[in-house]
Amino acid sequence: MTQRHRSRRSLINIAICFVAAAVCTVGRPISVSPSSEPEYDLVILNGRVIDPESGLDAVRNIGITNGTIQAISEKSLSGRSAIIAAGLVISPGFIDLHSHGQDQENYRFKAMDGVTTALELEVGTGDVGRWYAAREGKALINYGASVGHIPARIAVMHDPGVFLPSGDAAHKDASKSEIEEMKRRIEQGLKQGALGVGFGINYTAAASHWEILEMFRAAAKHSAPCFVHMRYAGLKEPDSITALEEVVSATAVTGAPLHVVHISSSGLRATPLLLQMIREAQSRGLDVTTECYPYTATQTNIESAIYDEGWKEALGIDYKDLQWVATGERLTAESFARYRKTGGAVIGHAIPEEIARLSVASPLTMIASDGGLQNGKGHPRGSGTYARVLGHYVRELKSLTLTEALKKTTVMPARRLEQIAPMMKNKGRVRVGADADLTIFDPATVIDKSTFEDPAKYSEGIRHVLVSGVLVVKDGKLVAEGNPGRAIRGAR
Ligand SMILES: [Zn+2]
Repeated sequence: MTQRHRSRRSLINIAICFVAAAVCTVGRPISVSPSSEPEYDLVILNGRVIDPESGLDAVRNIGITNGTIQAISEKSLSGRSAIIAAGLVISPGFIDLHSHGQDQENYRFKAMDGVTTALELEVGTGDVGRWYAAREGKALINYGASVGHIPARIAVMHDPGVFLPSGDAAHKDASKSEIEEMKRRIEQGLKQGALGVGFGINYTAAASHWEILEMFRAAAKHSAPCFVHMRYAGLKEPDSITALEEVVSATAVTGAPLHVVHISSSGLRATPLLLQMIREAQSRGLDVTTECYPYTATQTNIESAIYDEGWKEALGIDYKDLQWVATGERLTAESFARYRKTGGAVIGHAIPEEIARLSVASPLTMIASDGGLQNGKGHPRGSGTYARVLGHYVRELKSLTLTEALKKTTVMPARRLEQIAPMMKNKGRVRVGADADLTIFDPATVIDKSTFEDPAKYSEGIRHVLVSGVLVVKDGKLVAEGNPGRAIRGAR
C-alpha cells in the first residue's frame, strides 16, 4: 500500500467511524443518508475482508439482505442495522467437517469459536432422516451428517454400543449377508441426503478389507466421499502407512473420494510420511484429502478397540499419558483396568508437538475439530480448535499465515463437499451471492481458553458471527435471536 493510499484509506476510515460513532453499536439502525431507505438489511462496515478463494484482503463494506451477501464495496453502504468492524477481520464462517457434538450445548461453543457449519462426518448416523428431523429449526448453526459404517455395523451385528462399538461390531467378522445389509443401509442413508459415508475402521477392527471395499463401492455408486478414521495408528506395524494404503487403494479401485480424518492423531510420528503419500496420491489424480486438529492429545472411549491389547506400543504412550475426562486424573495400570470395565471418555497425550505443528501448517490439511462436549466435559478441541489455530499457530508461533489458516477453515472444507452438496458452493466464501455465514474476529487477541482440565471455556476474540445473515454472536457474546442453522444435505 502506498502512502497516498494509506492516508486516503484512513480518511475513509475516519469518515465511516464518524458516521458510525454517532449511532453505532451493533444491531442499532444506521443510515448514511437518512432521507432515503437503507439499501440493505445489515451492513458490516470498514472491516478487513479476507476471502481465501479470490485472494481479496482489503478493507471493505459488506451489504447483506435476505441472508445473502449482496455487496462488497469500498463505498459506504447503508443498512437497517450495522456492525462496525474497524480493526477486525471479516472471514467466511468456519466449516467444521468433524464435529461429534451435535446439540445446542456444542453449537454454542462452536459459534463462540467462529464456526457457522458443524458436520458429523466421521462416525455419522445410522438413521439419516431422523437425524436431520431432530435438528430442523432447533440449531444455532448449520448442521449435517454422513451415514456411518460404524452405526450400520452396530445395528447389523447387534452390538450394545451406542456411539462406538464395544461388542461384536468391533470384534466379529461379518458374514456375506451381514455385509450386504450394511451396504443396503448405507445406500439408503445416501438416498436420504447424507453427506457421504463415515468410517472408523480402528473401532470396527474385525471389518475385513473386503468389507471396507464393499462400503466404498456403495459410496461410489452415489459419488459420495468416504470420511475415514483409519485402521491403525502410528509407526509400529501394522502401522498407519498400511492403513492409508488400504483406503487410498479402495479409492483407486472404486472411485469413491477419500477424506482421511485427523491425520496427526492417526499418524503420530508417521504423519509426515502420510502427508507425503496423500500429496503423491493427489498428483496421480486420486480425489484424496485430509484434516487435522491443533492439539497434542487424542480423545476416545476407553472401552473401544483402540485400547485393546497392544495400544501402548501402537500409540507410543503409557498409562500416565492417559487422562480420565470425568475427573482429570492421570491413569495407572489399576485405574485403566477399572475404567475399561465401566467405560467412558479418555484423553491420550500421544501427539508430539512438532507433529501437531507441521500438520496444522501443511497446505494439504483442512482444520477440523473432532470435538464434542458433554455437560461441559471433554477435549478442549470441542470449544477451542479454531481460535487456537488463529491465535496460537498463526499469531504466536507463526507456523502459517492468516490467509493460509482461513483457507483451511473455510473454502477447503466447502470444496470437499461441493460435489455431493452443491449448496456448499455458496459457503466458505465472502463473495456477492454467497450465504452470509461470516465470522468477524480480532486477529490481535483471538485465542482459545479451553484446557484439558477445563474444556468448557469459550474462545476469546471472536467478536461477531452470522449464520445466514443472522447474528448468533454479537460483541463477543452469544445472542438469542432464534435458530438460524440450516441443514446441509447431499443433493439426492
Ligand atoms: Zn476418529
